[in-house]
Amino acid sequence: MLKKNDVIHLNVTSATTEGSGVGKTEDGMAVFVPLSAVGDALEVRILKVKKTYAFGKIERIVSPAATRIIPDCPHFAQCGGCVWRHISYEEECRVKQQKVQDAVARIGGIDAPVKLIIPSERVLRYRNKAQLPVGTDKNGKPVMGFFAFHSHRIIDCADCALQPACFADVMRITRDFLAQTDNDVYDEQTGKGRLRHLYIRLGEVTNELMVCYVVNGNGLKQEDLLVRMLREGLPNLKTVVINSNREKTNVILGRKNRTVYGSGVITDKLCGLIFTISPFSFWQVNRAQAERLYAKAREYAALTGNETLLDLYCGTGTIGLSMAKDCKSLIGVELIADAVRDAEHNATVNSICNARFLCADAPQAAAQLDREGVMPDVVILDPPRKGCGEALVQTIGSMSPDRVVYVSCDPATLARDLQYFEAAGYRTIEVTPVDMFPRTAHVETVALLSKKENVLRN
Ligand code: SAH
Repeated sequence: MLKKNDVIHLNVTSATTEGSGVGKTEDGMAVFVPLSAVGDALEVRILKVKKTYAFGKIERIVSPAATRIIPDCPHFAQCGGCVWRHISYEEECRVKQQKVQDAVARIGGIDAPVKLIIPSERVLRYRNKAQLPVGTDKNGKPVMGFFAFHSHRIIDCADCALQPACFADVMRITRDFLAQTDNDVYDEQTGKGRLRHLYIRLGEVTNELMVCYVVNGNGLKQEDLLVRMLREGLPNLKTVVINSNREKTNVILGRKNRTVYGSGVITDKLCGLIFTISPFSFWQVNRAQAERLYAKAREYAALTGNETLLDLYCGTGTIGLSMAKDCKSLIGVELIADAVRDAEHNATVNSICNARFLCADAPQAAAQLDREGVMPDVVILDPPRKGCGEALVQTIGSMSPDRVVYVSCDPATLARDLQYFEAAGYRTIEVTPVDMFPRTAHVETVALLSKKENVLRN
């Protein structure tokens, strides 16, 4: 029997998408080892033993996997952001592909082709948004960066390999400003102190930069100096916003924004359309890859110009609006009122007149539309991690669209929902994983479903 502190030999044969390699002991016990790679032969120290599995850490790499690379970030292994900086990007894509395949087949029991994952063109510096917690280390020195794994300990970072280079300049200027003024930083334990988060967004096509400070209170001392320092150091600075969040909460943004420089918003382009982005707007963090995801969704939607398109969980409307010119009418549904306002604004800015947006819970709104006799030809779904659930699937079944395009950020809930769709008369035709977030544990998937009677007829 394995015990804590045993050192064992382990061959790593598979990987979880959370970044752990997995190997089996001689008596069949699975051992999870963070930062290992499939193909590694390791000496592993056992840290924790459960009934059927155990956790360990690498004591020594006896023989490294061929896919191993030297991590290119000094914070990797401490920072909770990336889990895959120690293996090649090809290997990361293979692991993500496997995760989607396993979920579809094992959780969903679905026998549909899973296409090759669409890799991200950029593996470095692909993010256009950062939300960096600010706090103090144990000596009281201000720190700014990312939370450690499963913790609220801030790893102090000067730069992040996933962020645009100019974000490091914003971080440096903010540190200088804190050093020159007597603004204190927030303490999560006591709820005291002023600066909580530094929040940065970049319009990638427009190169417009937004810097937002989340403050426990109404503002910072010497905001004029801050704006001057930012303007001097950042030629692409478009706007500076102070967000007030006085709540003792993990939610980053408070309700109130005050613009101290510029117009309070930036713009960017996606799929040929212009979008206005406020601090509150949902906006895809990997813009180039979002275009590829939406292109796949558009291909699956196969619009001809005559369709009614229902875009559920539409956020600021991006997916539906990118297809609005290819359909007769578009209905978007989104729970957050600000996002709905953004979606309406985005339709207007892009001269799209065949779209309307409902601020409502997607399952409830779909049920209401069904009662009103609305019969969409194509339904797009892009729910949060928990998926869309059985009730909504049944309502969609009742509305009887020809096709459903399901965009998912969690393969497990996607697979479960595909099974519900199977019961509601829909067949999964094809599934495509898309890597929106290289080096992290996340993988996006888009699936095409078709009404079974149509599949049989063809
Ligand atoms: N399709 C958009 C946004 C997807 S994110 C895009 O690609 O940009 C998922 C969205 O679902 C979020 O905007 C979230 O606010 C919304 N949401 C979460 N729960 C919801 C619910 N029950 N009903 C409607 N929308 C919901």
